[in-house]
Amino acid sequence: MKVESDKMTNNQNGSEEKFFGAHVSAAGGVDQAPIRAKQIGATAFALFTKNQRQWGGKPLDEQTIRAFKLHCQQLGFSAQHILPHDSYLINLGAPEQDKLAKSRQAFIEEMRRCQQLGLHLLNFHPGSHLKQISEAQCLATIAESINQAHQAVPEVIAVIENTAGQGSNLGWRFEHLAEIIEQVDDKSRVGVCLDTCHTFAAGYDLRTPVACEETFAQFEKMVGMHYLRAMHINDSKSKLGSRVDRHHSLGQGEIGWACFEYIAKDPRFNGIPLILETIDPDLWPKEIETLKRFHRGDTFLE
Ligand SMILES: [Zn+2]
Ligand SMILES: [Zn+2]
Repeated sequence: MKVESDKMTNNQNGSEEKFFGAHVSAAGGVDQAPIRAKQIGATAFALFTKNQRQWGGKPLDEQTIRAFKLHCQQLGFSAQHILPHDSYLINLGAPEQDKLAKSRQAFIEEMRRCQQLGLHLLNFHPGSHLKQISEAQCLATIAESINQAHQAVPEVIAVIENTAGQGSNLGWRFEHLAEIIEQVDDKSRVGVCLDTCHTFAAGYDLRTPVACEETFAQFEKMVGMHYLRAMHINDSKSKLGSRVDRHHSLGQGEIGWACFEYIAKDPRFNGIPLILETIDPDLWPKEIETLKRFHRGDTFLE
């Protein structure tokens, strides 16, 4: 099934640029995140806008909001290249009503925080059925959660991250992503973030240019590249199809550099945030530099 979009949600905007970055710390306030991103040579970044392991968070104050916007502007980061990630506690497909209500409320809060910061994207993991409801019911619940968030908060785009399929997490098959999008009313405000580690762990090979070609062709067929709003660029400690989510530094895991070279060179990935969530932040400047070199046309062994 390929999801038809009401509006064009093409991420590429004819951009010839690549925007590489990492998920940086927001310790000391979200306004510190763009400063950290700049320090590692990034032109994109991801962040948590509150503690990702807690339900609540203190509201963003005016001063922090102003400082965040100012730093982004001064350091050259635009909203379409900033990818906030929601709390890990949220399960938008939760089978139990009280947990679902709490998750939906928290997700709406996350969207509001994005809006306050002038951001357009919110990256989240779709949800888990916890073996209490069917996959189809869980996917429908996730779509309804997105619809409710869209009604509560204007503008912000819900960016569904594909998962490794650990436990009862859905969103590891491209069909799951398509089934959620299919049931979202405002298709101009839903998108996908493909995480290379999750994609690989879910069973889609990325180890060679031919494998990448095949995997992204499947994504195009099932979902559509125009829904791709962001990517997480990670190598994987776990094997193809293991359904185990273990990130690794680029080139040190099971995927290898060929995939990252492919992404850096392929214009379909222009104009969107390409975010490292690799395990050694000390390597981020080097990883970003290598990706930039690939984009400029260098090949790995040069
Ligand atoms: Zn994630
Ligand atoms: Zn990720």
